[in-house]
Amino acid sequence: TQIMSRGLPKQKPIEGVKQVIVVASGKGGVGKSTTAVNLALALAANDSIGSLLDQKSKAIGLLDADVYGPSVPKMMNLKGNPELSQNNQMRPLLNYGIACMSMGFLVEETAPVVWRGLMVMSAIDKLLRQVDWGNLDYLVVDMPPGTGDVQLSVSQNIPISGAVIVSTPQDIALMDAYKGAEMFRKVHVPVLGLIQNMSVFQCPKCKHKTHIFGADGAKRLAQTLKLDVLGDIPLHLSIREASDSGQPVVFSQPESEEAKAYLRIAAEV
Ligand code: ADP
Repeated sequence: TQIMSRGLPKQKPIEGVKQVIVVASGKGGVGKSTTAVNLALALAANDSIGSLLDQKSKAIGLLDADVYGPSVPKMMNLKGNPELSQNNQMRPLLNYGIACMSMGFLVEETAPVVWRGLMVMSAIDKLLRQVDWGNLDYLVVDMPPGTGDVQLSVSQNIPISGAVIVSTPQDIALMDAYKGAEMFRKVHVPVLGLIQNMSVFQCPKCKHKTHIFGADGAKRLAQTLKLDVLGDIPLHLSIREASDSGQPVVFSQPESEEAKAYLRIAAEV
């Protein structure tokens, strides 16, 4: 689990944070936030199993850097304004044992983000530097989709242990995932692997399996990029329902096959 951070000179670690894992995607709507949230919960769960042995539980944080469409407040059932600590830093909000910070805590839920580039950058800087995380073993960062300013700025400003890239098996999503992987390589962020989401749908009635977005696309892309596929998450009603109700599947149905898919990924990261 120990990945050495390869820091560039201008990168400054986030105080108190040992490892940063970013969850990225080329395209929007492929399940990046769902993966980030469940991965954070799975890292906490895996580590609490370990903690029975070594008596040391791990602290996990979740930073929603998707400033245009923050999903963490809804998925983690959190709202409200963060309190300020004595040194004027924002305190993350806590649920299910995960410390969370999101632009969604700072702006009205219905307010569209119509910011200029500079404002977006200053918002990201606030989320990176003005949060009192305490001591974290892992900070999971839910990135915005794509390969723009925000992704570059996050990648260049903090040392990142690794990036995971989420894609559906669909060609158009894979093409964008490819670009995402290449961007991280350019800025020397190690890509830990791909996660294939919404890979297969099994009819709950007749058990027939349908590959709605195609089959094995991520596997082929992983071969091209010489990367691992860290996991395969099925398209499943309970994943969507659990996220929408603010009780992600790893928290609410930890024994389900869907939750286990995330737990296996967390064990690989
Ligand atoms: P992104 O962050 O890539 O925009 P989201 O995580 O917000 O995508 O997911 C988009 C929608 O798809 C959400 O409604 C989410 O609940 C749903 N979703 C994501 N992954 C799955 C899955 N494996 N099975 C069912 N629904 C999913």
